[in-house]
Amino acid sequence: MNAYPNQVFLNGQFVSVPDTQPTSLINPADEQAWIEVQSASLATLSSAVEGAEKSFHQIWKSLTPGKRAAALYRVAAEIRKNQRRIAEAESKNIGKPISDAMDEVGLGARVFEYYAGAISQFGGQTLPVASGGLDYTVREPLGVVAAITPWNFPFPIACWKVAPALAAGNCVILKPATISPLSALLLGEIIQQAEIPEGVLQILPGSGGLLGPAFSKESRIRKISFTGSTEVGKEIMRMASDQLQRVSLELGGKSPNIVFADADLDKAAGQSPMSVYANTGQDCCARSRIFVEAPVYDEFVAKFIESTRQIKVGDPMKPDTQIGPMVSSDQRDSVETFIQSARDAGRNIRIGGDRPLNKGFYLSPTVITDIEFGDRCWKEEIFGPVVCVTPFTNEVEMMKEVNNTPYGLSGSVWTRDLHRALRISRGIESGVISVNSHSSVHVEAPFGGFKASGIGRDLGINAMEGYTELKNIYIPDLQ
Ligand code: NAD
Repeated sequence: MNAYPNQVFLNGQFVSVPDTQPTSLINPADEQAWIEVQSASLATLSSAVEGAEKSFHQIWKSLTPGKRAAALYRVAAEIRKNQRRIAEAESKNIGKPISDAMDEVGLGARVFEYYAGAISQFGGQTLPVASGGLDYTVREPLGVVAAITPWNFPFPIACWKVAPALAAGNCVILKPATISPLSALLLGEIIQQAEIPEGVLQILPGSGGLLGPAFSKESRIRKISFTGSTEVGKEIMRMASDQLQRVSLELGGKSPNIVFADADLDKAAGQSPMSVYANTGQDCCARSRIFVEAPVYDEFVAKFIESTRQIKVGDPMKPDTQIGPMVSSDQRDSVETFIQSARDAGRNIRIGGDRPLNKGFYLSPTVITDIEFGDRCWKEEIFGPVVCVTPFTNEVEMMKEVNNTPYGLSGSVWTRDLHRALRISRGIESGVISVNSHSSVHVEAPFGGFKASGIGRDLGINAMEGYTELKNIYIPDLQ
């Protein structure tokens, strides 16, 4: 099984959609087109909804919790068996370093295992209502839900939407980003190998501009779970309001990294670079604004630059590569306009800012200092390997600037003072904070944003709740 699937996955089979424009995928590491993937049409979407609804009513929602859990464990096992194959497809598709891709596929398996286990713990409450009798809540699946995913973490994000939705008893229509459909389609193979009933997961590669509005017109789709840009997220919320479809939105970010003078500077400067450059900076959680307490500013910046210099940029297929190319030529162009705006404003590009290799959409990790708070690089999500660093002297003023952004996804604080760590963690208006670490994602813990970074949560039990309606049932005391 070497060739990758390149058709639509509908009702348990890969099927051809002859009359649509296929997407030609370009390997970002060598700029060569290497595979064409078919696109779903509006008619495909209609069949997908019909098939998913049928499976929901006839099979999936009434499967016993034990059987549903067993099915998800089988999916996890098949993902682990195919880890290398999925990781290689992801690497070739979007330029992700193979070691990261292997980890992310492992994470996808872990997500299925977690929700398989969660099924037996997921229930309602009994409530002592004033009028007496028996009052209890149950969680019921929504029905057919849509999952729309981005190109930066295609496989894990698909898993962390599909797994809790299936665990809660829903059927799912997954639409991967147009340019990164391969690992999602491989999930179709996994579904076949795990013998999941047909129609429980439909996978429709293709255009968001075409399928997105159609999802919202389809009253049988009860929820749209989206990860992507804030701009498209707002559009989805507007469109979903017509039918009051539920939405969860994981959107953009511009997260802070705050380093106090008492921090372990070697650790902070050693680990922080990958909190912004990982995945070539194409990470919604990228801590791209660093605030450093003035007495250690020069020392921290010097150490940070040295760590940046050590990072291995290159062929994503090599096991020791830490940073691959950007996903596309357009994405690199977009990031370069940010760097150019900093140059034009006379900011200090301390390292990077160039294309390190002749072939491939590579961009060197870039550190910018001497910025002003009005700069584009400081205010806007860059989505590339670029970080701005600024000193601070006053904690209150610094925190005002930390929160002076429409976004609120993640953030880090580095200090040895526990009270300060607690105070600052509570003060940052973001959904995911780490202290003396840049870890953002834990399968068991909720992940998502404040403000323009989103609504709702992926991962943890919260995500599973988000794929249900909460029903209250009351039975009066019959005495
Ligand atoms: P994008 O918004 O361009 O695309 C995301 C998905 O939406 C794709 O599948 C795309 O085809 C689809 N889409 C496009 N137009 C649509 C429409 N009108 N209706 C419905 N769907 C439509 O985002 P992207 O470029 O793939 O990803 C980058 C963005 O995603 C960044 O802003 C990043 O911060 C964000 N992101 C957020 C998280 C998070 O968890 N908060 C995670 C990863 C990425």
